[in-house]
Amino acid sequence: MTLNEIQLDSLPKPELSRYEKLNPEIHAGLSKIGKKLHGNKIYHISSTATGGGVAELLRSQIPYEKSLGLDSRWFVIEAPRSFFEITKKIHNLFQGKPGFLSKKEKQQYLEENGRLGKDMAKILSREKTGGIVIIHDPQPLAIREYIPKNFYVISRLHIDLSSPNTSIVEFMRPFLSSVDMTIVSNKDFVKCMPWLPPRKIRIIYPAIDPFTDKNRSLSRDLAKEMMVQYGINPDRFTISQISRFDTWKDPLGVIKAYYLAKNKIPELQLVLVGFFEAQDDPESADVFNEVKKHSKADPDIHLFYNMNQLQPKDASDDLFINALQLMSDVVIQASTREGFGLTITEAMWKARPVIARKTSGPMIQIKDGQTGFLVVSPETIAKKIIHLHDEPRLGIKIGKKAAMSVKKKFLMPRFVYDNAKIYQKSLEPVHNLTAN
Ligand code: UDP
Repeated sequence: MTLNEIQLDSLPKPELSRYEKLNPEIHAGLSKIGKKLHGNKIYHISSTATGGGVAELLRSQIPYEKSLGLDSRWFVIEAPRSFFEITKKIHNLFQGKPGFLSKKEKQQYLEENGRLGKDMAKILSREKTGGIVIIHDPQPLAIREYIPKNFYVISRLHIDLSSPNTSIVEFMRPFLSSVDMTIVSNKDFVKCMPWLPPRKIRIIYPAIDPFTDKNRSLSRDLAKEMMVQYGINPDRFTISQISRFDTWKDPLGVIKAYYLAKNKIPELQLVLVGFFEAQDDPESADVFNEVKKHSKADPDIHLFYNMNQLQPKDASDDLFINALQLMSDVVIQASTREGFGLTITEAMWKARPVIARKTSGPMIQIKDGQTGFLVVSPETIAKKIIHLHDEPRLGIKIGKKAAMSVKKKFLMPRFVYDNAKIYQKSLEPVHNLTAN
């Protein structure tokens, strides 16, 4: 069990001038804050550098902060599978699954966090001037007590906390109560922590980076070519869901909706993508096996789960996902819990009509009937698919509005700005503390 630092040189460097063109006002604000915070230490700790929304966010956010002049660093956890089995259970409990952590599981979680905490404390002890530590999600949250006093500690929770299992909230309460600030993606998520004073809570909506391989503009010809290369017919009506194979993402619900819609649209094809990348999600293989069983070897259901399915030259799945989102007639997000679905915003940015389950994140991301659709069941997903198939102009209209709303609200500069404003405020008392 140890902490590994991600070498930021290995991630693409953001070109700030391109972000400036997106939104000059936010860019100006960011440059100003960047100057004030120049050289300040920001330590991000998350469970993994690949797979899932947190990794996706941090891969853009941290290099962006660094380009603005902040001394941002990123550490991830190297731990045995048994630790990630416990933290996935914690994640599931936070999202409302029944059950509780056993005494042994709690003990292992705390012991492993103790080892991580000591590692972190050693690194931080070299920083006499202090700084900010941001703990992403619950996996490393219990390292809080090892962080030196001259650091401002933020807990950034990315999960859906709309109806958590109270047993886990109580277990985590000492750590959540002792951080200086908690950031969540939705105001509804605060209700489960009534003991947190409002001054210690902020809401920040996540965002996507429009210039990564996943989101940059791609020609339809190239996207079409990629679909053909991977056995997907670009001329047939295509629906897709891109998500880790996780029961909360309800891939079986998507398959059900596909079968229902297929009765009316014989040419329909479904693509499900969930490459096994996230080491903190040990359940994905089991969920995938269920998905495989339910897809009954239907040749019109395309399953992508292993990176070996991609061309060896495609080191990452980003371009493939970009092309697939662009070529999908409808993008589905059937999650029964979703703190904020980056995949939804990614598809909207590509002007796709998205059908999502009406849960916390999608309700912020989509205006029902205007920038996408919010539905409640596989049956209503199927109805909407048929509707969009029968009225292609509706999909085009919704898609255009969806892209506009992402441009306005859910792009990386706004997200980095929101975070930087918190850094700015929080560093004031830290400086006072170290000066005394
Ligand atoms: N993703 C990916 N490959 C996959 C499945 C998902 O790169 O096989 C990406 C997806 O494009 C998105 C992120 O992982 O950027 C998932 O974030 P989201 O917020 O939708 O869900 P999370 O996994 O965090 O629950």
